[in-house]
This record gives sequence, structure tokens and C-alpha cells, in this order.
Amino acid sequence: MKKEIYFDNAATTMPYREVIEEVKRAAEEYYNPSAIYDRAIEVSRKLESVRQLFLDSVSAESGTVLFTSGGTESINTALLNGAAGKKNIVSTDYEHSATIKALAQASSNGQEIRIVKATDRRIDTGRIVDAVNERTAMVSFMHVNNEIGDILDIYELGRSIRKKNPQTLIHVDAVQSYMKLGIDVEKAKIDLMSISGHKIHAIKGIGALYVRNPQKLKPLIFGGGQERGLRSGTENVVGIRALGKAIELGAMNFSKNAEKLKNLKAHFAARLSDISDHRINSAADGADHILNVSFLGVPSEILLHSLESEGIYVSSGSACSAGKKGSHVLEAVNLRKEERASALRFSFSALNELSEIDEAIAVLKRSVEEIRKFTKYRTGKNV
Ligand code: PLP
Repeated sequence: MKKEIYFDNAATTMPYREVIEEVKRAAEEYYNPSAIYDRAIEVSRKLESVRQLFLDSVSAESGTVLFTSGGTESINTALLNGAAGKKNIVSTDYEHSATIKALAQASSNGQEIRIVKATDRRIDTGRIVDAVNERTAMVSFMHVNNEIGDILDIYELGRSIRKKNPQTLIHVDAVQSYMKLGIDVEKAKIDLMSISGHKIHAIKGIGALYVRNPQKLKPLIFGGGQERGLRSGTENVVGIRALGKAIELGAMNFSKNAEKLKNLKAHFAARLSDISDHRINSAADGADHILNVSFLGVPSEILLHSLESEGIYVSSGSACSAGKKGSHVLEAVNLRKEERASALRFSFSALNELSEIDEAIAVLKRSVEEIRKFTKYRTGKNV
């Protein structure tokens, strides 16, 4: 079988080998954590230790964490039930669709939504702060954008939002940044923060929501009262243990992994000079695991499948919007039509190697040149 080169880590990551072993152990320890005999109490104890591990990993001095089914559920819980009422919620137009759709629901529930538009290929964080007023119940923004890798300064935003309205709650979608960038929920004054297990080498179906003040949150799911009554249903013990193992390994290797991602992205960006007429759509100071690039005159899906035929996996937009037309993020950051039509996202993990980049660039160059022959693209035309 051909060796696979997986550069779609913003869509999902390969579980660590140790995570898979932990999954097996957790599945074998099948007792219900709400039961009161010793074996079940031991399951519950392990679950609580993951809760603490997560809180420690974001330097939380207070608050709790709810285990959810993933980033989408965490975001929905925060946006729909973290600040319900008549006041407004401020967000941006280049959020993940989980946020965009949850805000649409909040809007149909009667809540005022104030959207800050990205311009000049960036979100101006000052405009997020400008949109906050005395009636702002919550501000919600991504830490790292999943399509282009832009980083928003959560510390500056936290300070400025609190200064403008000390009552406003701050929700951060940290799905793409957790375990890649350091997050200190105290310094960033974060009240709610969403993360997802499958983006950090755990498994799918597990996520978490950090909640500074559980009294202010209303449940989205009702039932047996698990998770302090804030998220009922027997806990996904296997997923939680997988998440715990991924956090443990991610935290232990944090600096080493960050250095590796930095080198991978720098090497990829440098090697792209082998290919004519490309545009790097990601900012130079963006996250190290995401690089969005347009190859002018090359329709992105044709290139994606051409790479796939050589065992190289990338994305032409966010996986969650696959099949849908165009990317709202690339549109929001004002990419030209031909740049949007030819954009691919390469996303790395610390499990990738520099040698994979050299192999991928060689295939990429060949594929781009072949496709351009068919599209009759003349090099330099759109430069
Ligand atoms: N937020 C961002 C920034 C994401 O990249 C994703 C997944 O692509 C999500 C939220 C949704 O997370 P999940 O797939 O765990 O529901």
C-alpha cells in the first residue's frame, strides 16, 4: 500500500497510539460512573482526574468543565444557554459554522446578534471591542481560524472587552488552538471556552466546555443530572479517558510539538517557491499548523483529488462545509474569486515529518503543472 501523507489535521487528527490503548482499557472498565460500588467509584474518580487535568492545562483557578460530544455541542451550549435573554451577542463573520448556526438560532429566539466583518484579509480585533456596548451579554470569537489559521489575541481582547463592559461574558472557540497555543483562561478573562477531542489526537465524539461560573449556565440537555445537572446523560467515559490521555501527552510535549509545527510550516512555505503563481492566503504570523494556499488556474477540488490519487490528503475548505459551495471564511477575508476557487488548506500535526513535505511538494508541483495544461492557464497571467 502507498504511504499516506496526511496534511488535513485541522479536519481531524490521528489518535495517539497511547490514546487507543487507553480507549481499550476504559471500555473494559465499563461500570457506570454514577453507581455507588467501588468499581464504579473508581471510574468516576478517573473521570474527575481528567476534569482537573483539563482545568490545569488552561491555568484555570476556578470554574469547571463540562464534557460534551465535541466542539459543536460546546459552542451551542455556550451561545444558546450561556447568555440567554434579550441582550446582544457580539461575534464575527468568519467563525466556524457551529457558531454561525447557533447564533442564527439565538437570533430566532429573539436575541440581538452583532456581527463584526473581516476586512483586508483579517479581523480587526478593535472592531470586536467597538461592537460591545452596555447591552452586550457575550462576545464569542475563535482563537485560531480553522481555514486560514489567523490568530486572534485573546489576551488583548479579554482586557479590552472587560474594560468596556465588565459584565460581558467571553466565549472562545479554542477548537483549533487548544494544545497548539498556550491558553491561560485567567489572563485572557475567558468565561466559556470550547474544545474538541478529535483535533488533539483523542477520538471523535468528545469535547469540553470550560465554564467559569456554572451558576450562570443553563443546560441544553436534560435528564439524569450528570455534570452538575448541566449536561445530562451517562458520561462518555471512553471519550473522556481518551481526551485525558491526549491532554496528558499534548501538555508533556507542548514545546517540542510547537517547535516541530513551526519547522513544518516554514519548510512547506519555503518549498512552495518551486511552484509558480501561488498565493499564501494565511498571514505570516498565523498558527503554525495551518497554511492556506491558492494555486492560480487550478480548481481546488481537481488538485485535491489529484493529490489524493498519490496518497496525499488535504482539504479544499473546512471539512464541516464539504459539499457546500465556497467558503464563507475565504469570502469574508476578501479573497478574489480565482483565489477562492483554487485554495487548498494544508494542515499539519506533530506526527508529520519534514520529509513528507518534500515528497508532497514534488507531487504538488507535478499536479499543478498538469492541471494548468488542461485549464490553459498561462503562468504569470494573474500575478
Ligand atoms: N470550531 C472550529 C474552529 C473547528 O475547526 C471545528 C471543527 O472543524 C469546530 C468548531 C467543531 O468541532 P467538532 O467537530 O468537534 O464538533
